[in-house]
Amino acid sequence: MSVSLASSPIDDGFAPHVAQLSALAPEAVLTDPDLYGSRLTDWRGAMTGTTPFVLAPRDVETAARLIKYCADHRLPIVPQGGNTGLVGGGIPQGEILLSTEKMKAIRALDADNNSAIVEAGVTLADLRAAAASIDRQFPMSLGSQGSATIGGLASTNAGGVQVLRHGMMRDLVFGVEAVLPDGRIFRGLHGLRKNNVGYDLKHLFLGAEGTLGLITAVSVKLAPIPRSTAAAFIATPTIASAVALLNLARDLSGDAVSAFELMPDIGLDLVCRHIPGATRPLPNVKAPWWVLMELSYGRDDGVEDALEAILMEASDRHLTLDAAIARNEAQAKAFWRIRETLPEAEKKHARAVKHDVSTPISALDSFYREATAAISARWPQAQIIAFGHVGDGNLHYNVSARAPAEAQSLLKDSKAIQDVVYDCVIRHHGSISAEHGIGILKKDALKSRADPVALALMRSIKAAIDPHNLFNPGRLIDV
Ligand SMILES: Cc1cc2nc3c(=O)[nH]c(=O)nc-3n(C[C@H](O)[C@H](O)[C@H](O)COP(=O)(O)OP(=O)(O)OC[C@H]3O[C@@H](n4cnc5c(N)ncnc54)[C@H](O)[C@@H]3O)c2cc1C
Repeated sequence: MSVSLASSPIDDGFAPHVAQLSALAPEAVLTDPDLYGSRLTDWRGAMTGTTPFVLAPRDVETAARLIKYCADHRLPIVPQGGNTGLVGGGIPQGEILLSTEKMKAIRALDADNNSAIVEAGVTLADLRAAAASIDRQFPMSLGSQGSATIGGLASTNAGGVQVLRHGMMRDLVFGVEAVLPDGRIFRGLHGLRKNNVGYDLKHLFLGAEGTLGLITAVSVKLAPIPRSTAAAFIATPTIASAVALLNLARDLSGDAVSAFELMPDIGLDLVCRHIPGATRPLPNVKAPWWVLMELSYGRDDGVEDALEAILMEASDRHLTLDAAIARNEAQAKAFWRIRETLPEAEKKHARAVKHDVSTPISALDSFYREATAAISARWPQAQIIAFGHVGDGNLHYNVSARAPAEAQSLLKDSKAIQDVVYDCVIRHHGSISAEHGIGILKKDALKSRADPVALALMRSIKAAIDPHNLFNPGRLIDV
């Protein structure tokens, strides 16, 4: 299913605005579609939008001037960072695209306070490299880190593979600087671990998906770099056994599990088929599920011994079928490459009906079985590719076609498939969006399932901060 959004209102009516905005900040107004065309299609290629022109301010003061002009003239805006979002929230439907691509300064790195202040357009990879330069880590890691920006990660409350140990963006942000929809600047940047002065306003912007203004900078927590890490690629019979393995590993390691990623066997097949150079860590082993587990220690030694002891105990308890331990960094990287390229391999196989869901960890196995039985009974051409951050109770539960030629027959039933999966998630006390957000694609699913009081509160907050519905209108919630 390819979604083509409302046609662009580009016409002469915008010329005076372009002239006025250019007078405010000449280098920030982009009118040549050749310069921004690729920003109008989302990462999955499922959605293409339009914009009359793009604003790309270099700093917060310029952003504030431009946004105030747009507010005064009731011009709606869609913020965009790296355009790696997966729910269509950053693709304009005729609104002005406001890009953070030029807001790239790392304003401060503070090793003693274990914190950094970074502008919205800095990529996750660049922040991680900057933190490493002062012997610290920014403890977030995900497949899109070369493009995803700090502003986008904060706006979607992103997760990734280190959530188990360090939490999501809401756990990693001390403070936020943002331009409100009327052009005022909220200066909430600080590096405080304790700060009890009423409402914690940064949380309005974290996970708001750009509906409450433009995040221009964020102050974030840094953490010590682990001194030793060990990784294993583990065959396991069921999701329940993977969950038992996780809890065993946490117990035996003194809670040193730093990542715990689940993949189905079909996922390994797809990676080996579509990603050059990828191979199975245990070529002769077939298992329904695979776990990539990583332990990290703050000291230099003992981590491999701990991993081996866990795997022996897990095997005795019949939680695992086989396992490969990475004996060097190259092997560990090869394990991670399988996990990180799985979305790309899946995309190359066929378009799928995707779900990014969470349940309590203890309910994951039951959710998977129930949802899969219901989908298989109604759509025999489907195969489930479910993978993700099991340590966080998060599965990317994707309904794909066994044969690429059958993909269309599933995509045309997207809504019915999603209803089956989301209703099963709700029965298991889960969430229909674990880490990707709501955007456009999940808005109706949220509206029909969310607590009405929660929806009313969200609408009240939106109306208070953006009374003219100018920032990301039509995303996340309808007003
Ligand atoms: C291969 C791949 C792997 C991924 N893995 C993960 C994963 O493991 N965990 C995870 O959580 N996500 C994952 N994602 C999703 C994605 O990377 C995140 O949603 C990311 O946080 C979006 O950042 P971005 O800069 O690309 O934002 P964009 O896609 O540009 O925007 C996302 C949303 O945030 C808004 N926004 C962007 N910047 C700002 C700003 N400065 N102020 C206000 N609003 C803003 C946009 O309007 C939009 O609604 C993955 C994506 C891909 C393609």
